[in-house]
Amino acid sequence: MSTAEIIARCQALYDDLDFTSAREWKNADPKRKVIGYMPVYVPREIIHAAGMLPLGILGGGDQMEVIHGDAYYQSYICRIPRSTIELGLTKKLDFVDGMLFPSICDVIRNLSGMWQLMFPDTYVRYFDVPQTYQDHIAGEYYIEELKELMAGLEKLGGVTITAEALRESTAIYNENRRLINAVYDFRAKQPSKAPSVEVYLLMRAGMVLPVEEHNQVLTDYLAAAAEEERPLRDNCKIVINGAFCEQPPLNLIRSIEMAGCYIVDDDYMLINRWLLDDVPLEGDPIANLSAAFLHASADTAAKYCDRAEDVGQYLLSTVKKTGAEGVIFTAPSFCDPALLERPMLADRMDEHDVPYISFKYAENSGQMQPIREQAGTFADSIKLWS
Ligand code: SF4
Repeated sequence: MSTAEIIARCQALYDDLDFTSAREWKNADPKRKVIGYMPVYVPREIIHAAGMLPLGILGGGDQMEVIHGDAYYQSYICRIPRSTIELGLTKKLDFVDGMLFPSICDVIRNLSGMWQLMFPDTYVRYFDVPQTYQDHIAGEYYIEELKELMAGLEKLGGVTITAEALRESTAIYNENRRLINAVYDFRAKQPSKAPSVEVYLLMRAGMVLPVEEHNQVLTDYLAAAAEEERPLRDNCKIVINGAFCEQPPLNLIRSIEMAGCYIVDDDYMLINRWLLDDVPLEGDPIANLSAAFLHASADTAAKYCDRAEDVGQYLLSTVKKTGAEGVIFTAPSFCDPALLERPMLADRMDEHDVPYISFKYAENSGQMQPIREQAGTFADSIKLWS
């Protein structure tokens, strides 16, 4: 299969706001359930172990006109909660049996309460995560949180989630993380062979496909992309930071590359790369998931960092590992977590002479000319003076 065929399929999944593939998965067996989650992090292993499909809900993008959703939130805040409400009210999520709202900001927390009121028949959970990382405090708390999630899903599906099923699901997600990291490593080493729009669409496919299918798509892409000859541009290498929740429009990702920047790392769909290592398969699978979150997860603006000296170290290590020549801070307008952390991240880049620029976007931003000009000037300045 060629990269064009693989990416055409991923693009079709991306464009489909009716979630046809997830509906078909569910319709194949009357016992099947689908659990939606907002971006950032939820332990999909537990949903998978319950025999359910985790379904990433990443807003309506630039294809959806928000009409009803604007009445629920102030017009100046980020767009993802409003377009997600629009998805719900226009019945595009009427097949979803449960929704998880990860702990990331007030907007998502409020959305979880609104969802409960608007869709009382849906299982809704605000999924809280620790903000400190000692095992005897945060570990105990988080293990209880995971067990409560498990109990909720068991009740919803009339199933029992066994330790064996959890281990099997963890192994499948370990494989998913390995393949995703392999795609990111491949792009970092040979960015001309894996355009960022393609990598993005590959990752988006993982939000809606069963993980086993996504693993196959990633494997096929790695094989096809390695074989394909593509022109090498005189682009500089940059890391994208701050785009972990509301997603930029595809044209923005494309524009950055066309303006002269190869994206060699990014934090789009951070859930894919939140856990840094394989989660161990021996021992208690819930304790293992908890320990992975506490001790082997990426320090980003989406995860509370309890030591000032650690802020920005993960971004810095990414810049060094990928050989990036600069950072583009790009976040959704009004995104508290990303925009609050940005000055501290910028300071860390200053300390190490890493050039950066910053701008904001909305998922339906349409005017790309200013982005192209900014990214193009940034690329030129790196080429000329770095
Ligand atoms: S874009 Fe930022 S502020 Fe908006 S819901 Fe997501 S994390 Fe919260």
